[in-house]
Amino acid sequence: MIDVLVAGGGPAGWAVAAACARLGLDTELADLAPDRPWRATYGSWRAELPADAHAAVAGSGSGAAIGTMEHRLGWDYVVLDNAVLRDRFAAAPVKVLKGRVRAARPESKGVTVDFDGGQRRAAILLDATGAPRSVLGASPRRTAAEQTAVGVVVDADAARNLVTPGSALFMDWRPHHSETGWPTFLYAVPVTSGRVLLEETSLARRPGFGLGVLRRRLHARLAHHGITVPSGDEERVRFPVDRPLPAPGDWRGPVVPFGAASPLVHPATGYSVATSLQLAPRVATAVRDALQRGGSAAAGIAAWQTVWSPAALAVHTLRRRSLESLLRFPPRLVPEFFDVFFALPERHRWTYLTGREDVAGSAAAMGALFAASPWWLRKRLVLGALDPRTPPQSVTQ
Ligand SMILES: Cc1cc2nc3c(=O)[nH]c(=O)nc-3n(C[C@H](O)[C@H](O)[C@H](O)COP(=O)(O)OP(=O)(O)OC[C@H]3O[C@@H](n4cnc5c(N)ncnc54)[C@H](O)[C@@H]3O)c2cc1C
Repeated sequence: MIDVLVAGGGPAGWAVAAACARLGLDTELADLAPDRPWRATYGSWRAELPADAHAAVAGSGSGAAIGTMEHRLGWDYVVLDNAVLRDRFAAAPVKVLKGRVRAARPESKGVTVDFDGGQRRAAILLDATGAPRSVLGASPRRTAAEQTAVGVVVDADAARNLVTPGSALFMDWRPHHSETGWPTFLYAVPVTSGRVLLEETSLARRPGFGLGVLRRRLHARLAHHGITVPSGDEERVRFPVDRPLPAPGDWRGPVVPFGAASPLVHPATGYSVATSLQLAPRVATAVRDALQRGGSAAAGIAAWQTVWSPAALAVHTLRRRSLESLLRFPPRLVPEFFDVFFALPERHRWTYLTGREDVAGSAAAMGALFAASPWWLRKRLVLGALDPRTPPQSVTQ
């Protein structure tokens, strides 16, 4: 029996597998296609990255955002070189298995795992299979709210009108695509020193906003700025932002979700990669210590509690309420809402975006947002967060 089996070789699975192996735990990682490169463009705030991930930064810029006016955010935004990040993880002594993990049976002293390539026994299984959470089950209760986007990469020079060298435009809500309806924004970030990703993004919508409309808006926006759409690949984004936590009956002792499967996704921004990288060494340490003390059941509990402390659960609940508010906003008011948010004092903005275990700070940030809001926004913030109904969708895609 091995110590740790990780299902899923995305950034979260690799980060936690490498951290476990570096602590001397006998670790294996199973993925359907373990050699398939990570194709998504992964970004985060520089200060969110753990120290050892800084070597994988491929592009960076000073963060800015535009609601109806520009705000300098005071933090650097970075985009990762996926191959460099992955190679660093793969240097750890992790045994890689190719195959789909099909079932996991918790037993008294570990878990038996069936996968396409055979059967394995491990003290603990970490389910890092992404949003589908294909081992533990995603238990969706309703249509997911999804973030969707369509993007292209252009030369930094060509994008100079939109994003100046040395900058990263986190959000630009100006309707330069000339369409009304569901609000979408431009995300414009340097992927290397000379290339920029320009992505038309729907932050969250239930169901996700159509990629066809996003593509049309992206092309119209680029035309507005005199930028020719390149003929090469485009990035297509679609992932859920409100996957439920496993129900008490779904969570099975030594089988613990990690990464987007957990779900570590920030409900109001869609970010999870930096959080997974930060938590991976803490989870590995908790698992090692618990295995030494009490065996597999203790390791499962320790891993779960490291990821989902009472504080993390409380902040997650607050963020989910914010997401529900946002989903119900009248489209024309969204850019003004972001003006109010980005004008908050830096500590509130930072805590809201990154402080996943800071209950008092998150509550204070939301209180400050409420206090800084005009009456029409206050009404929306309160009613949206309290209204359990799915918002009516009036926009034709
Ligand atoms: C295009 C795109 C851009 C994104 N950009 C960002 C960003 O900038 N910043 C950010 O924080 N987040 C971003 N996200 C959101 C999110 O962070 C990513 O989805 C991220 O990939 C999640 O990492 P993960 O390792 O948890 O899961 P995944 O990357 O989804 O990895 C899951 C892995 O599990 C494997 N797998 C699935 N089922 C099984 C099974 N049964 N058995 C074995 N293997 C299995 C899959 O093959 C895959 O390799 C983006 C998402 C997309 C789609």
